[in-house]
Amino acid sequence: MTLPNYEIYAIRYARRDAKRAEHFIGGDPHDAPMPMDYFTWIVKGGGRVIAVDTGFTEPVGTRRGRQHLRDPAQTLARLDIDAREISDVVLTHMHYDHVGGFASYPKARFHLQEKEMRFVTGRHMRYPVFGHSFEVDEVVGLVRLNFQGRVEFHNGEAEIAPGISLHHVGGHTAGLQVVRVHTQRGWVVLASDASHYFEHIRSNRLFTVAYHLGDMIDAFRTVERLADSPDHIIPGHDPLVTKIYPAASPALEGVILRLDVAPTAP
Ligand SMILES: [Zn+2]
Repeated sequence: MTLPNYEIYAIRYARRDAKRAEHFIGGDPHDAPMPMDYFTWIVKGGGRVIAVDTGFTEPVGTRRGRQHLRDPAQTLARLDIDAREISDVVLTHMHYDHVGGFASYPKARFHLQEKEMRFVTGRHMRYPVFGHSFEVDEVVGLVRLNFQGRVEFHNGEAEIAPGISLHHVGGHTAGLQVVRVHTQRGWVVLASDASHYFEHIRSNRLFTVAYHLGDMIDAFRTVERLADSPDHIIPGHDPLVTKIYPAASPALEGVILRLDVAPTAP
């Protein structure tokens, strides 16, 4: 059976200024700026539209000092996609900047690793070092969705459509998963927060928000194994993604990027 070649789009919806030392365990000798971008993703093809993550809401992002640029769900209209009609949303993990916009997808079921729900409703949330990246109201919101039968729990690997699979990696959070997608250029992996920047996976350095450091390193290797090449790995927060991947159209420069085509620079 030939697999569909899916299109992948990244929606850049927020940003913040930051320094290099904030992004690496052990700090960094260079006191240089290292701004962060925030994305959601769309996988489209074979008659399907699947959203990956939902972004944070404007009030939560503003409270946390992030610069909200646009609503990710509303921005999908620029791809002629109506978020209200999307039937499947993958949540890579439940950090506020990945899950906050879930209410914009009223018909969707949400694909989540069961370990992540256990993590965010479990004993570690009392400690700010783990709990501070989650919003309790959003955790409760997902619990409510589960009672409505709208959370699809996965354990480990799951193929949710031909050529689209989810893979538990953990590390950054207990239940983090990455998404592998078949495209015209081969297997692309949406690494999400398994590698915030290209630099993390390429130099085996670890991001400062972490649940299990060994699992974070192992996640790098899993992502590399799943992707056709290092250029097929899409980090979750790197402004370089915006620089090296083409806009979906000239009018969408810096807003929506096309990831199923080769990057302009390695
Ligand atoms: Zn995260």
